[in-house]
Amino acid sequence: MNYADSEKINMILLQGGLRKVLECAEADIIVLNTCSVRQKWEDRVYGYIREARALAKEQGKNLIVGVTGCMIRKTGLHKKFYESERKRKATKNIERMQNENSLFNSDDKIFGVTDTIDFTMRIEDVHYLTKILSIITGEEIGNDSKWNDYLQVKQSQDNPWSANIIIQTGCDNFCSFCIVPYTRGREISRPQEEILKEIKECVQNGTKEITLLGQNVNSYGKETKKKLWNSEEFKWNTSLDASSIKWGKEEKTPFRELLEWVNTIQWLDRIRFTSSNPHDMTHDILSAHFELPKMCHYLHFALQSWSNELLKIMNRKHTFEDFRLQVEYLRSRDPLFGISTDIIVGFPGETEEQFQETIRAFEICEFDFAFIARYSPRRGTRATDTLGDDISMNEKARRWDILNTLLYKSVRKRNELMLGRTEEILIIGEEKDEQLVGRTRNFKEVYIPYDKKIQAWELVTVKITEMDRWVLKGEQI
Ligand code: SF4
Repeated sequence: MNYADSEKINMILLQGGLRKVLECAEADIIVLNTCSVRQKWEDRVYGYIREARALAKEQGKNLIVGVTGCMIRKTGLHKKFYESERKRKATKNIERMQNENSLFNSDDKIFGVTDTIDFTMRIEDVHYLTKILSIITGEEIGNDSKWNDYLQVKQSQDNPWSANIIIQTGCDNFCSFCIVPYTRGREISRPQEEILKEIKECVQNGTKEITLLGQNVNSYGKETKKKLWNSEEFKWNTSLDASSIKWGKEEKTPFRELLEWVNTIQWLDRIRFTSSNPHDMTHDILSAHFELPKMCHYLHFALQSWSNELLKIMNRKHTFEDFRLQVEYLRSRDPLFGISTDIIVGFPGETEEQFQETIRAFEICEFDFAFIARYSPRRGTRATDTLGDDISMNEKARRWDILNTLLYKSVRKRNELMLGRTEEILIIGEEKDEQLVGRTRNFKEVYIPYDKKIQAWELVTVKITEMDRWVLKGEQI
């Protein structure tokens, strides 16, 4: 999501007449699109700014530094914007904002930590960027008025062969450890026609693979089918079991409808999506993987913990039984179906028994990959405000090590199933040691010997011949 957001920033600045440079030393303006999931990464941002400032000082340059992304919480810009919009019952027209200085968000807490930042901006306010820079530089940097809304701002699609398409932003789930609902706000879905138009444009420019992005893609469009959405339980009024679907025969979730439309786009080869949640997963979305030929056989969805008690405290709305059912369904349709997940170890109050349950989850689900995080308190979240952080760093590290070892075993076991198979891989790049790397449809990374006749982002048929730690090796046939 951050990567896609950076592409939006890039597009806005390109349209404003600025040019992207590859080295920090060449930059006059730096916009840091930050991640706030760990304190360590926030600290890195400050370190990076210090280095960039020192370099600019050596060069005698007046560097402008802005920060956006999840480190920026509720800011003045956001408040002023909505207040004035409500008052005037007017459009989101930046030119009519009463107080331009409010654009600088000088009330954001980050200014209490450092005085090396010129401006901050919530990523949802990205369309204000050229205006902010115009005020700082005193020069008019163009703003495309078509894009006065985050979801309408186009991405620059840095990688034209594999495009990330944002279909939704924000989140209504409020998991107790997560900052996203506070930084990105409530869930908003983008109109289907707009998404399809953007994908078609990408495909005309050579895109073979698209990834539909959102914080919670399976609830995409819930505001368009209100009768089918259970707003108390945050899930669709349907069951995972196709035989007991309560809706009319023709009724589908808006996300399934979107997938069907995307599947009809000529010359597009692969469809992926991320991220989805187990609590509002439906049978029609799971079965889309097998009914729509362009869908890849891979799903990333977050379990977080196998303990139902802990899931409740995390304000997750699924149980381990829900998750397990979904894994079993996917693997029953395709034993090689790739599944990855997110896990938190050391969440406040996690007992040894609860951790043991998560170990059991690894044994049962045999993940193809997992992002295992040691719990890190984030200011402003319910978990941090009410639960503290009672598991020591050493204990978190021990639990992380155990799961990581189990993950390695499970990845090896899953990869072993791929040996000897003939697979089509989409080449994603060139690696050192004269190797090309590509991905199978079930998201396995495969390395093949370098061949100058093979272009990046070509589809190549390979035979999988060996395993090398986390990845696979093969040869072109
Ligand atoms: S579903 Fe939970 S973890 Fe994911 S973005 Fe929303 S609040 Fe955060």
